[in-house]
Amino acid sequence: MNIIELKDVSKLYGFGDATTVAVEEVNLRVKKGDFIAVMGPSGSGKSTLMNLIGLLDRPTQGRYLLNGRLVDKFGPRKRAKFRRDTIGFVFQAFNLLPQLTALENVALPLAYKGKTQTKRLKQAGNALERVGLADREYFYPKQLSGGQLQRVAIARAVVNAPDILIADEPTGNLDSGASRVVMELLSDLHKAGHTIMMVTHNPELTRYANRVVFMHDGNIIADKDSDVGQVPDIARKMYFRTRKTEEDDLEGVSALMDAIPQDDKMTKKKTKKKSRKKSKKKEAKQ
Ligand code: ADP
Repeated sequence: MNIIELKDVSKLYGFGDATTVAVEEVNLRVKKGDFIAVMGPSGSGKSTLMNLIGLLDRPTQGRYLLNGRLVDKFGPRKRAKFRRDTIGFVFQAFNLLPQLTALENVALPLAYKGKTQTKRLKQAGNALERVGLADREYFYPKQLSGGQLQRVAIARAVVNAPDILIADEPTGNLDSGASRVVMELLSDLHKAGHTIMMVTHNPELTRYANRVVFMHDGNIIADKDSDVGQVPDIARKMYFRTRKTEEDDLEGVSALMDAIPQDDKMTKKKTKKKSRKKSKKKEAKQ
């Protein structure tokens, strides 16, 4: 069964001459239990796509079915409730509240459920145990390392037992040792049946996924199944730094273009033309 189904979904920002097409007529089907790595240069629409899938944002056009429900027709309250019950989020910046202990941070998503505080804290304690931090319950964020903070954030994301976990560069702020621990944890959650969508710039991390999706200019330009434990060739050929300069962007884009298989040449032509158009526009502005 498809847990996520996007049909011709677009997201536009701004209007008139200043319109940005962040996501363009994307079609995507995700099976329950998939672990998908999403790659692509900066500005290619990865975060926008995650926000749409995570019900943090609504598509400008197209249809979105989540767990078989047409969620883009939901009003804000129904959408928020559905999001709480269905999706957990892990961000690069951890997003923990500094004035709360690890345990209280993890218990936050349970606050609306009408459970007693004792029950909530017990459930949060179980989630912390799952991420190997049972002995850090009463620590405040500033007393924890980056890797531990991300593990607390993962405990918070799964405390509600959501079907889907969305992780936007979850290891972006971590050293390699801490990254590994966090990735092993996501891998365990995958094995336990969670569906995971993870944005990453690091091709090595695609080894934890069973499918890799590549974005460019708001489009999905390649979508490959891959064996868990293997880094698909196409991912190895790409290396996107978490950059913010135009040169880095161009470097990422040319790596991407070189790595696209022959049968995707049509897309290649289309996107190349587009980038040229874009840079012409830029030149004209200057
Ligand atoms: P990525 O995550 O791949 O770096 P994003 O989804 O953040 O890409 O951005 C895709 C495009 O949409 C970019 O051109 C970006 O500038 C634009 N964009 C993203 N969010 C907004 C916003 N809130 N307002 C206007 N433009 C946006």
